[in-house]
Amino acid sequence: MISDLLHGIAMEENIPVLGFGPASAMADERPGHRPDDLLPGAQSLVCFGLPVPRGVYQMPAYGLETTWRSQNLHYRRLDTLSLRFTALLEESGAKAVPIYGCMPLGMDHKGMIVGYLNQVRMGEVTGIGVIGRNGLLLNSRYGSRLMLGGVLTTVVLPARRYPENEEPGCPPDCRICVDACPVGAILPDRKQVRIMGCLQHTARTHAMSRLKFLLLRAFDPRAAANYMSRTSFDENTFHVCSKCVALCPYGESGKDDLDP
Ligand code: SF4
Ligand code: SF4
Repeated sequence: MISDLLHGIAMEENIPVLGFGPASAMADERPGHRPDDLLPGAQSLVCFGLPVPRGVYQMPAYGLETTWRSQNLHYRRLDTLSLRFTALLEESGAKAVPIYGCMPLGMDHKGMIVGYLNQVRMGEVTGIGVIGRNGLLLNSRYGSRLMLGGVLTTVVLPARRYPENEEPGCPPDCRICVDACPVGAILPDRKQVRIMGCLQHTARTHAMSRLKFLLLRAFDPRAAANYMSRTSFDENTFHVCSKCVALCPYGESGKDDLDP
């Protein structure tokens, strides 16, 4: 089965988390950012994740720099795997498109920066995690630290996830991420982040003119999204905040007690 081939490649590539789910479960996404908008006839989603090491987020010195480098290396691996999966699925006569990890970006009908397809939602639909109050995918082995890649395909794949973890979601009384966010960008009841508020605080993009971006956004939103993608891709963006990931305790209890 093609799903077994995809799982075999993920194992070969040391990708610890992989899931398949129905594309129809995302038919209620924003107009222009639904599976059928990107691939007419889409049947299935594939989503997979690689964790940034926990130690990286806890480094007392050079943590932000090491996070930046780790994420950029992971994005390359994830995007390359998306393309490899896509090629394999198309060898079977189907169609498939990669859903890349971070960029390029699009803009929705309200002028908000968005991914082409919401990857956090993909993660939830494929069962590899649940959405937390910090708006990120929570996984019981890797907390909020998973970076995601994906594929959309016309192949019907069986709904399945590896490993088959239980995901209870945020503890009822936890607000660590909400209280830690320096700009109040986390909307815990909606499990969302005000993305522009977050980016304004955390993103340093030396190659992007904020004024040019705002002007383009006012008159030509798609050009604004493309401008941001071209100037902020990979190493061109440095983040000075990752508190909502670094401090999230989900799935992390007891790991320091493991046998060496
Ligand atoms: S990265 Fe920082 S600013 Fe952005 S939502 Fe998380 S805690 Fe808030
Ligand atoms: S810090 Fe707490 S409330 Fe926030 S996402 Fe993590 S478990 Fe959920």
